[in-house]
Amino acid sequence: MIVVIGSGVAGLSAALSLARARYDVKVITKSVTGGSTPIAKGGIAVPVGRDDSPEIHAHDTLKAGAGLCDEGAVRYFTHQAVKVYYQLQEMGFKFDPELWLEGGHSRRRIAHRTDETGAQLHRFLYHRAVEMDVRIVEAQLISLKASNGKVRGVVTDKGEIEAEKVVLATGGYNSAFKFATSKGNLGEGIASAFLAGAAVADMEFVQFHPTVTEDGFLMTEALRGEGAKLINDKGERFAFAYDQRGELAPRDVLARAVYTEYLKGNEVFLDLSDVRELDKRFPVVSDYLRKRGLGTRVKIVTAAHFTIGGVLTNVKGQTTLENLFAIGEAANTGLHGANRLASNSLLEGMVMGLNISDFIEDDWTGPKLKGNDLIEIEVKQAEGLDLDSVKEGNWRHLGVIREGKSLEEWLNVLKDRHGNAWSLVSYLATYSALMRRESRGSHYRSDYPQQDDSFRKRFVLVRKGSV
Ligand code: FAD
Repeated sequence: MIVVIGSGVAGLSAALSLARARYDVKVITKSVTGGSTPIAKGGIAVPVGRDDSPEIHAHDTLKAGAGLCDEGAVRYFTHQAVKVYYQLQEMGFKFDPELWLEGGHSRRRIAHRTDETGAQLHRFLYHRAVEMDVRIVEAQLISLKASNGKVRGVVTDKGEIEAEKVVLATGGYNSAFKFATSKGNLGEGIASAFLAGAAVADMEFVQFHPTVTEDGFLMTEALRGEGAKLINDKGERFAFAYDQRGELAPRDVLARAVYTEYLKGNEVFLDLSDVRELDKRFPVVSDYLRKRGLGTRVKIVTAAHFTIGGVLTNVKGQTTLENLFAIGEAANTGLHGANRLASNSLLEGMVMGLNISDFIEDDWTGPKLKGNDLIEIEVKQAEGLDLDSVKEGNWRHLGVIREGKSLEEWLNVLKDRHGNAWSLVSYLATYSALMRRESRGSHYRSDYPQQDDSFRKRFVLVRKGSV
């Protein structure tokens, strides 16, 4: 039997792919409607426009990734994007006819289904999986069963399951930050894989979104493209003080601007009064505002949004541990490098999930380790810190703007306290952020504000004693 852990875009696509190829597959998920997929609003990047191509899409992705992408992986995903786009439609999913433009993309290539693409896709994949008689069970992954470098099953809160192969599709760890765009993504799959001996990589790269309400509702980037303005409680339109592009500056620049205002003690608002046809063009945003009785001036914060770091894999999803696959946000394929190009992550999950049946029987070559720094980490499974303390500490020390002394302080708190997933993944991320003495992509160090090409390498971490 093949066990898939997680029911987001990656897990459900994998379950469907395996069921269609007649494998015996079972999905275990903490919550069927949990994770980031059902709340993803934008869309999927697909280079299918008349003036577009997988090569141009690859070029934009490499540019965003700031020198750390795996070029082979990037080209694989941008070429597969076209296949997956048509495959989904053959399966019955309907995209809106218009392709949208998003920050960092040089062409219109974001395929939407209304302004809640993630929810629509999730519903579609879930119903298809149920139609194919895939068993989907709510239970929580506790650990992986592994021996002699091979995974043999999983331990859940509802018992143990023997499996020939395990596919981790448990998402990222952005919910381990005080402000986050999704709830319940605590890096549990990544921590279990690391504890079982799998390598993880790029843990320091966390993408922050600049415009999120305090209760975690994402005010989509497209609003700024349509005239929404950032103002502080003094009435200042401050974005231009940080970048000449103002509200249209890249996501990480604006996240730092909003965070700096927050550090100054200023409240920050998104002013929507100039957005045309808000109700018609942004029905989900309008609905949110209406339900909360909010007007066109909405208080916002910056929030942890997407975690690039994860279980090191090749594009097939093979990890360094035989029989363990990781896909979607839980995986680190090298597609995103140091910064994710918007809308490439639903794509990553879809491609890895839908293609998995082609690779499930392949020889185990695993991901490439060459050219990366391999670092052994000692794990002490003493009691972990409580979640609220970790969220607070990550926000303060591992947040939008990082600094060596503060990272060291936080690392010392987390040291020897690896007894739960969120403490362990935060330790690994803090460790990597401290080692990366430069600013690159989504990782910003105030004590090393420049990019330094002696750090043009990925940090790969493995548990001491596992290699
Ligand atoms: P998730 O969808 O996060 O699913 C993880 C699954 O794992 C869940 O089913 C969860 O229940 C399960 N799980 C977790 N831990 C355990 C455990 N211990 N045991 C059992 N099950 C577990 N990306 C885009 O490309 N385009 C967008 O427009 C976009 N918008 C976004 C908007 C928001 C608000 C957010 C938060 C993210 C957005 N993203 C977007 C990112 C994208 O949604 C995610 O990267 C993607 O959905 C991840 O899919 P996944 O299947 O890997 O993981």
